[in-house]
Amino acid sequence: MTRTVYVNGAYLPEHEATVSIFDRGFLMADGVYEVTSVLDGKLIDFDGHYARLERSLNELDMGNPTTYDDLLEVHRKLVAENGIIEGMVYLQVTRGNPGDRDFAFPPEDTVPTIVLFTQNKPGLANSPAAKKGMKVISIEDQRWARRDIKTVQLLAPSLGKMAAKAAGADDAWMVEDGYVTEGTSNNAYIVKGNTIITRALSNDILHGITRAAVLRFAAEAQMKVEERNFTIDEAKEADEAFITSASTFVMPVVELDGAAIGSGTPGSVAARLREIYLEESLKAAI
Ligand code: PMP
Repeated sequence: MTRTVYVNGAYLPEHEATVSIFDRGFLMADGVYEVTSVLDGKLIDFDGHYARLERSLNELDMGNPTTYDDLLEVHRKLVAENGIIEGMVYLQVTRGNPGDRDFAFPPEDTVPTIVLFTQNKPGLANSPAAKKGMKVISIEDQRWARRDIKTVQLLAPSLGKMAAKAAGADDAWMVEDGYVTEGTSNNAYIVKGNTIITRALSNDILHGITRAAVLRFAAEAQMKVEERNFTIDEAKEADEAFITSASTFVMPVVELDGAAIGSGTPGSVAARLREIYLEESLKAAI
């Protein structure tokens, strides 16, 4: 089936949607993005993703080509037109097409480029990976210093994912100054005793929308949370580990650099958080 996608105000079949070779997103990775998951044909945490989009645009002094209401409508229309029951909506905004290449920002009236498309992922909520757990390796964090801005500069995470694959693992946890920052496309957590441990928010990591929701649900369920740095050695000694992201929700991690974490099977804290997250997010989906 040909997808209907959205580019700069138009709904088009995917093969008809184009962006200029001079687009700042293409030439300079001068763009930001969001991924919103879809369950039961509804958007999970749309408000959180919209708020983070606005923040990313502001941090980069980039114009916002849309509004909350318009963007919600585009998301809903793409989900409906493409018959998405479970999957994701990808959104990207770039600084637009100045008509040439220059390091300096184009004039303020340059129109930002906006692109959205859906990804169909049947079985996203009931993923077999959640029952099996993931294997991760550790790698050096080679990204820039503003990881709190969700830019499309994804080469370092992409190389990290390939290193993980080459090692027979599913993903990589990135390490800086001896401490885990996050996964290549997710936030990282360990559990010791009854305590959930995850790195505190700063410019070093992306402020995950799923992270915010999961920590809120954990607190509501009287689970203990510590927001602090942890090392790979501490993670190897943990009782369990997991990641969060909009497309994986809560996903257990069972192996780190070839060593089993805890029993080497998905832990009960991750399982409980996944269940609560899916239940509560579905209730609030729009
Ligand atoms: N960290 C990084 C580096 C990511 O790319 C992502 C997913 N885009 C996340 C964390 C998780 O963020 P969210 O829960 O908003 O998907």
